[in-house]
Amino acid sequence: MADVITCPSGLSGRVRGMKVREERVLADRKLAKNGGQIDELLGSCWEETLDPGPYVFGEGGKVDWGKVLQGDRFFALLMVRAMTYGPEYAFGVSCRNDACRARIDWEVELTKLPVRPLSEESRAAFVGGNRFETTLPDAGKRVRFRLLTGEDERKLPALQRSAPDKLLSAVLAYRVLDIDGIDAKAKRQFLEDLTLRDADFLVDEFDRVDCGVDTTIEIECPECFGTQDVDLPFDKGFFLPGRDRTARRKARSTSSPT
Ligand SMILES: [Zn+2]
Repeated sequence: MADVITCPSGLSGRVRGMKVREERVLADRKLAKNGGQIDELLGSCWEETLDPGPYVFGEGGKVDWGKVLQGDRFFALLMVRAMTYGPEYAFGVSCRNDACRARIDWEVELTKLPVRPLSEESRAAFVGGNRFETTLPDAGKRVRFRLLTGEDERKLPALQRSAPDKLLSAVLAYRVLDIDGIDAKAKRQFLEDLTLRDADFLVDEFDRVDCGVDTTIEIECPECFGTQDVDLPFDKGFFLPGRDRTARRKARSTSSPT
């Protein structure tokens, strides 16, 4: 696999697979708590920037991962994982059919997940200060919002913990910059009063203009043959697959003649 990758925004660079020393990054509790693990990991494995895409980085072109769009970060992470252990990612989930509940072992190729590039229009809005615009169908008002970057990724968990009963309005308030005719102080109240249709529309708009990797895949249960959509699980086994994976691979290579 080539070591030059191009992220959904056009950010391109040379990356390497993880080394043993990165295990320390992944095991670091303090880094896990403040959300710095991903930045550390990307910082170590990103060796050289070839094209900064829509970003302006400081001296020497060193990537500031806090300023990089979520979709790019995630894509880069997938590629680092693919470069470290190969593109296949094996995981297990339980069948959602209550009458079945069988364990489903599935495997995807990380390099073949559908990628949504940052459109020209979105790139312009991002470069112009990360300001995107849309009109709410019910409220009939113009709304400006922004795409999420690495810095936001760090803040969101705390935000969600602080407002567990108002999750949607907290997230909307975090992403919405301003609303036509609404004072900044009244923003939260306005968003609390949105119709769910408007809220739903807004969340769809966030996704529509964003770039990233589609990690929802359809899998089929080998027992009941039911199909279900699952989000790729990214737990500890994603970066440190360890023995589980080795055992699975061995079992496969000895049991199947192909
Ligand atoms: Zn099943």
